[in-house]
Amino acid sequence: MLDLSAQFQQLKGDLMPAIESVLENASFVNGSEVGEFAKELSIYTGIKHVIPCANGTDALQLSFMSLELPEGSEVICPGFTYIAVAEVCKLLNLVPVFAEVDTDTFNLDPFEIEKHITPKTKAIVPVHLFGQCCDMESIMAIAEKHNLYVIEDNAQSIGAECFYSDGSIKPAGGIGHIGTTSFFPSKNLGAYGDGGAVFTNDDVLAKKIKTLANHGQEIKYQHKLVGINSRLDTLQAAILLVKLKHLNHFTKLRQETAAAYDNAFKDIEQVKIPKRFNKSSHVFHQYTLQVLQGDRTNIVTALKAAGISSMVYYPIPVHKQEAFRNDQSLPICENLCKTVISLPIGTEMSQESIEYIAYTFKQIIKQK
Ligand SMILES: *Cc1c(COP(=O)(O)O)cnc(C)c1O
Repeated sequence: MLDLSAQFQQLKGDLMPAIESVLENASFVNGSEVGEFAKELSIYTGIKHVIPCANGTDALQLSFMSLELPEGSEVICPGFTYIAVAEVCKLLNLVPVFAEVDTDTFNLDPFEIEKHITPKTKAIVPVHLFGQCCDMESIMAIAEKHNLYVIEDNAQSIGAECFYSDGSIKPAGGIGHIGTTSFFPSKNLGAYGDGGAVFTNDDVLAKKIKTLANHGQEIKYQHKLVGINSRLDTLQAAILLVKLKHLNHFTKLRQETAAAYDNAFKDIEQVKIPKRFNKSSHVFHQYTLQVLQGDRTNIVTALKAAGISSMVYYPIPVHKQEAFRNDQSLPICENLCKTVISLPIGTEMSQESIEYIAYTFKQIIKQK
């Protein structure tokens, strides 16, 4: 789906000295690169505080811990997404309430959020799925009206921008009270191992999250809070410092690949190409189509036989997972799980390989 070894070859000249420097200084934990990376990412996103941590799931956990929501509080999140939000809620004795998503953008539908608000609701977690922001203007208005916290899960849309109706532009992850991201290797800004970060413009929350990520201590061996140990390795920070410089270029390549796919598939009635939401830019973490006619399993098999990888994000909605099962019915989420398919959208794809994938996918779709 993404050729990380080809990407490494391209960046090797910058990466190896950065890695070597960490090894030579032997400051593997909390080395200077960690703070430097946090500062650079803050400048890049325009979000005041960036608190690096061990992974994107920890970033969500730290966010919830900092809010100290009463046990049993309800958290509204999408039913069509990665499992992390639901998992963290359960671990912290919060109740994830899954809401329906928009058929076209796959993102949390603001209208559906309101249906689930009860006196116990304390937070909303919009997940900016596949590279595109949720309707944050509407979501923030709902949150304000009902006095709810908003945590943006921005693991998939780093660098995306939200367009507000007054013409202003806001960064994904920097609109709600807290935002989170992941540097898992396959993410748009990927490390060579695990990594994550929490974003906030709130000074008080930032200080608390930083403390929580460091065993609840501000001063060594003085533990003010019950925290966790969640750090970004110095090595990963050094790698991310190099990769951040290329993020805009990589995003542009992803967008170009997406445009080429769009062009190839736009007139094929058997599939629906990814809709561009007019209130967001799209950084194409994934290029995700919907198969409207034909058997998706056969399509995946035929692609594989032609040497083309594809993925189904996500095959089972969160509310149907064994660990989180409830009696909710979310037909749009359930239908998306049956119809979506993502094609390769790497940053190292040649024009020929894009054309080959487009041509082959088109042939397969027409036959299946
Ligand atoms: C990847 C991802 C996460 C979790 O990040 P990890 O670093 O793997 O813990 C959370 N939410 C979404 C939407 C993701 O895509």
